[in-house]
Amino acid sequence: MKTPPSEDLKRLVGAPVSVLDTPMLVVDLDAMQRNLGRMAEFARKHGIRWRPHAKMHKSSAIAKLQLQAGAAGICVQKTSEAEAMAAGGVYNIYISNEVVAPAKLARVADLAHQLAAEQGQLAIAVDSVEGIRRLANEMNDRRRGGAPAVIDVFVEIDVGQGRCGVTPGQSAVDLALEIRKHAPLRFAGLQAYHGRAQHLRTPRERREAVATVVRDVRFTKMLIEQEGLPVPLVTGSGTGSMVGEAASGLYGELQAGSFLFMDADYARNERDPAQPQFEHALFVKSQVMSSGLLHAVCDAGHKSHAIDSGMPTVLPMDPTGELDYLNGGDEHGILKPARGNQRVPRLDETVWLIPGHCDPTVNLHNHLVGVSGGLTRGKVEKIIRVDARGALT
Ligand code: PLP
Ligand code: MN
Repeated sequence: MKTPPSEDLKRLVGAPVSVLDTPMLVVDLDAMQRNLGRMAEFARKHGIRWRPHAKMHKSSAIAKLQLQAGAAGICVQKTSEAEAMAAGGVYNIYISNEVVAPAKLARVADLAHQLAAEQGQLAIAVDSVEGIRRLANEMNDRRRGGAPAVIDVFVEIDVGQGRCGVTPGQSAVDLALEIRKHAPLRFAGLQAYHGRAQHLRTPRERREAVATVVRDVRFTKMLIEQEGLPVPLVTGSGTGSMVGEAASGLYGELQAGSFLFMDADYARNERDPAQPQFEHALFVKSQVMSSGLLHAVCDAGHKSHAIDSGMPTVLPMDPTGELDYLNGGDEHGILKPARGNQRVPRLDETVWLIPGHCDPTVNLHNHLVGVSGGLTRGKVEKIIRVDARGALT
């Protein structure tokens, strides 16, 4: 029988990048490490914690690198992602999302105890009384077995995204008071994340959106504190808006995830001068498999990279020059010379795609190939398993 692909890939460690088959998802480890350093420095300067979102890379190995670089823990979006991270040795996990199915909450309660036994901590977001009561039930059931654990619970408020979360104000106070009634739950603060604000194109639009968010958070925090309940932490924010939340004086934690890899969509944002200059670190290596008079075709379509946030951009390289990528379907990418470039790439040439959206791109792959020393002359340093790939429950 043929060797499993992961073993095949492991044999490539030490090999030049040029021998990598295509299409292949590649991480420039030097660029990733620089992005980590920039985030750590930004957080230090602003006196704020960072708890990067691991839904982006879905890899416990990368999560551990983030913790080594100073992250306070990691965020995930799903129960099964949290389980995969814990299995990989990550013990400080925040499910920044609502979980209401009793069967899932039983797993959440199990995990809370498992992490506590490792001196770690589990946290979760809520936006309903019913959700809080179900969580408390499962935690109480699980506690009867042995050493009691406590789960940190954040009340999510909807600060403009129109997704989960209660309306800022009294509804959040009611939830905080409900959490206080249950011994295995600890009110940890507010979850306030505005996803759409991340992708507003100008710094001014993003800062204006965050100003509204901050008003809602301040007001809600004040109402909760008037009930004699401290609000230990406000958490939220992403790569696009983090300068706003960091400057607010209200947020204690940044959840940015994409900064680590930086996709083509984030590159379409006009950078705020206060934002660190994060660089692209995630690429699909692809090869030209057909070449005509006016265009060429590469072997990476949208089974290799996600296109929900637009097409990938093509890293301008010698000799290909500037190219536009057009959707050619699942398995094909159409390449057209662009911006003064006249040259159609020839058969066999390598093209490096910067995916439109990093999170769902990573979820299409079992492994990331980590390279050091650059994309052209570098070598394969390590194979990183995407161990929470497909963890959707
Ligand atoms: N926090 C939450 C709740 C999110 O949903 C996301 C991404 O969608 C993030 C943080 C991270 O945002 P980004 O990857 O854009 O930095
Ligand atoms: Mn995303």
